[in-house]
Amino acid sequence: MQLMEVCVIAKCTYKSETIMFSVSSESSMVDILKTLCLRFRGLQLGCFTLRYSVPSYPSCFLETDSDLDLMRTFLLISNEKTVDILVKDLCGISEYSGDFCVNKELIACEKGESSCSSTVEDRNEFLGRSKRASAKPLLSNEWETYIHHVGQKFDGGAEEFRLKLCKYALEVGFNFLYAGNDKKRVVAVCSNKKLEGCSWRVYASRCEATGSFVIRTLNNVHTCAGRIRESKSKMMRSRVVSSLIVDRIRAKPELKPVEIIHEFKDYYGIDISYYHAWFGKELAKLDVHGDESKSFNELVWYTDAVKETNTGSLCTLDCEAGINRFRRFFVSFGGCIAGFQYCIPLLFIDATFLKSKYKGQLLCASGKNGNQGFYPLAFGVVDSETEENWTWFLQHLASILLPMGRVVTFFSDRNQGLLNAMGFVFPGWPHSYCYYHLKQNLISKYPKSGYGKLLQDRVINLFSRCAYAVTEEEFKVAMEELVIVGSSKVKAFISDLSRDHYANAFFKGMRYGEMANSLAESFNNWVGVFRDLPVLPLIEGIRQKLMVLNSQRRFEAEKWTTVLCPEMETRLCENAEAGRTWAVRRSNSTVFEVFADYSVMVDLEQRTCSCRLWQIDGFPCTHAVAAILAKRDSVYDYVECYYKTDFFRKAYESPIFPIPDIGKGLGSNGSAAVVCFRQLQRGQPEDHQQRGSKFLFVVVKVDGILNVGVDIGQAFNTRRF
Ligand SMILES: [Zn+2]
Ligand SMILES: [Zn+2]
Repeated sequence: MQLMEVCVIAKCTYKSETIMFSVSSESSMVDILKTLCLRFRGLQLGCFTLRYSVPSYPSCFLETDSDLDLMRTFLLISNEKTVDILVKDLCGISEYSGDFCVNKELIACEKGESSCSSTVEDRNEFLGRSKRASAKPLLSNEWETYIHHVGQKFDGGAEEFRLKLCKYALEVGFNFLYAGNDKKRVVAVCSNKKLEGCSWRVYASRCEATGSFVIRTLNNVHTCAGRIRESKSKMMRSRVVSSLIVDRIRAKPELKPVEIIHEFKDYYGIDISYYHAWFGKELAKLDVHGDESKSFNELVWYTDAVKETNTGSLCTLDCEAGINRFRRFFVSFGGCIAGFQYCIPLLFIDATFLKSKYKGQLLCASGKNGNQGFYPLAFGVVDSETEENWTWFLQHLASILLPMGRVVTFFSDRNQGLLNAMGFVFPGWPHSYCYYHLKQNLISKYPKSGYGKLLQDRVINLFSRCAYAVTEEEFKVAMEELVIVGSSKVKAFISDLSRDHYANAFFKGMRYGEMANSLAESFNNWVGVFRDLPVLPLIEGIRQKLMVLNSQRRFEAEKWTTVLCPEMETRLCENAEAGRTWAVRRSNSTVFEVFADYSVMVDLEQRTCSCRLWQIDGFPCTHAVAAILAKRDSVYDYVECYYKTDFFRKAYESPIFPIPDIGKGLGSNGSAAVVCFRQLQRGQPEDHQQRGSKFLFVVVKVDGILNVGVDIGQAFNTRRF
């Protein structure tokens, strides 16, 4: 039986040119490839791929004879008489690669690797091509395929169509103008239409049934002169930048605009302006994290979710009455609260800037576990470090600490708002100023070079001796010298600095060997990346990271076999080692005299040593260990339980639980108004703050439309955007 001859018309497009030829049931891939090479100038065998599109399948590979058979069959059953084939150049994109090139046999033949005999000419041709093929592949190369036939569908609607049109124009190397542009239809013409009468034009409109965009007419041929892909293009708009970096921003929120500029040059061979990089990043952040103002609204949902999923949590969202304006947020997870009583009774209080659009401050209170690691207990987000905000934060902290019935020692820098609040909420609780901050403060009073620098070093050295002096006598000697050397500058500095808050000799309370707020610093580094984020992703990011950290530490501690946490076990061994050769004499059942470099007195009942290190560190000093060993007691009986492995395990026994459905149960309530903080930085004088408080930058969401404006007293002067 004679089969009916099946013949379809192939419309082949390469760059901006299209040719048509017939494909019969007799045609093979080799025939088609030869035809294409013959007709398209510059097209070389083995250096391009073919893709055809049929309804619902816009990009099918056409590589082998069986691909060709399938294409013919598909066209036959769908009763199509024509097919669009796109020729994609691989030269300058990648090395020869069997996976991507048309017809491996042909390439192998050209390379002289198969049974085909190779000639010198062949080799030269190959070498020449190889040189071009070594050009750096760009991620933008596939954009050339984005716009190619009538009927092409864009499921993402107008937005996807416009974006792809920009990328297509960028890659092919022309600019276009919108002749019509709205949600329902987009018409674009070549920007050379006016000057040169170029007839390139595309018209796409929305398919009402599916909501997708469809190309209705397309004249993909430019009649204007010279289209060269430029490294700078008007088509590279912020939206395009944003679409390209959204995944990068998700993985690396701290990516800087300058880095984006470099990456674009590297990946796409395109120069973009700082503005486009910056604004593109802002847009991408919105895509990744949602609108920042929405984020505040979502905190309402989150607050409930925290309490529900993490029993025992303390979580408060404070809004201004009546207008639901975000003021501040506090959270301490149940798992952390339960574990904190097994941590060393220290709390490091600190504030750090948030870097998202709305600024604000992240307040945190971190404890310390028995293995000298930090133990984040509570966080707050406020607009600035005012006394009122600190009071609010500390009151929440008090409601966690007071029921535990123990006193903790606070560490902080000397922020006045915090100091006032501390005196109000925790009167009489030991409070240590961070030695490092005090030192920096003092350093800043002296020149950085010349004689001033010498003086500075001398002053700092003396101040350090004051702070670390273990006896009042030692402190007095160092202080007298400090005042003489440092003169008026030091006098002023010392006069409003109470020695009870920094000097070992006078500090009332236990500091467990800590002098500085360095733990808070390491917490800030740990939080690092999240500081770029709006409030909700910030808090949730911290929660997730904390959940993982606590879980890791729990598993880690399961493997420990020592009585003390490894860090402290090591320290104890070192202390024991140091006193191996010392003579120890007994005075009574608990008092010993230890003959080290000099003689010291150890009282095992009082847990004191005359060197005072035992009292200051809360951990047996070398002399104490020597005395304990001489008494043949167990050293471990003299170590605070916070340093023991079983306490460490208890500190991490209660996990932090996941908060499921985040992003799902979130919805904003219609006309809720939300704001960003007033744009004030730490260090601005008080009168500025008061004046500033009358000028709030406000974002108000009314029925889904964002309005932005300045709040002058009661009047909202808003503008839609
Ligand atoms: Zn044109
Ligand atoms: Zn000692």
